[in-house]
Amino acid sequence: MPIALNPDQRRALANRVRFYNELGIYDFYRREENIAQTESESLEAALQVESSSQPELREEMSPKKSTVLVKPVDENIFEVLKPEQSVFDPIAALKLIREDLGDCTRCKLHKQGRKQIVFGVGNPRADLMFVGEGPGADEDIQGEPFVGRAGQLLNNMIKAMGLRREEVYIANVVKCRPPGNRTPERDECDTCSPFLMRQIAVIKPKVIVALGAVAAKNLLAINAPMSELRGRFYDFMPSGARSSDPNWQGAKLAVTYHPAFLLRDPRQKSEAWKDLQMVMKYLGLKPPPKENV
Ligand code: SF4
Repeated sequence: MPIALNPDQRRALANRVRFYNELGIYDFYRREENIAQTESESLEAALQVESSSQPELREEMSPKKSTVLVKPVDENIFEVLKPEQSVFDPIAALKLIREDLGDCTRCKLHKQGRKQIVFGVGNPRADLMFVGEGPGADEDIQGEPFVGRAGQLLNNMIKAMGLRREEVYIANVVKCRPPGNRTPERDECDTCSPFLMRQIAVIKPKVIVALGAVAAKNLLAINAPMSELRGRFYDFMPSGARSSDPNWQGAKLAVTYHPAFLLRDPRQKSEAWKDLQMVMKYLGLKPPPKENV
């Protein structure tokens, strides 16, 4: 039977689990006879490895002993704990997410002609992150987001903000190219976006710019036209992913046009520039001197 924990107990348990994650321990076992106990005794039992000496700890953790795999005391706590959450170096944490993704076959895009997974690129400690909808043909070939004509325009937008491409982080909602550059479908976005959420939780940007309606709708879970989505900041926390930094309070999220759309309709560039200026103001960025643009 699931055991109800009070907030202090939940916090204590989460901290303890994180501690064991740091040691590289992700699976927890408990003796069968310890299951039926009072609530506080059960918590103590779940944490009994805490006070154990090392040989006893190994005994508790070994599935070869007469132990049973125990239902987590609070499944939510265990559910959100990912390997990278106990890693404080964002480079190493992103590597763990990439390893977890592996040669992903989780959604149908894996068998629809993708050449490779396009994970994301840039500064793992970036203050500013751009999120598009999915890789196109050039990205699929090169394994990097925004490298085609739209990527050139995004580079120019970043430069106009007084930054270099290497200073920001760039990713997409889906990591495999949809065939014929079609819009990624709902189930594909739902399957892939948890990895993006984990990347965001690791990078902890101050601002995320959603490029286009697909990215905006997926990140914000709002179904609205671009005209309504743009022109303001949203408070954003990655859903289903927790940062290893308890002090990170989430990011501001702004929505602007996708560079590919701006290539088709350059008249909207001035509108996109307004969105970027809003972001620059928030981040305290100044445009570079004219000769450097
Ligand atoms: S789009 Fe994402 S979930 Fe789908 S196969 Fe590619 S990496 Fe996996």
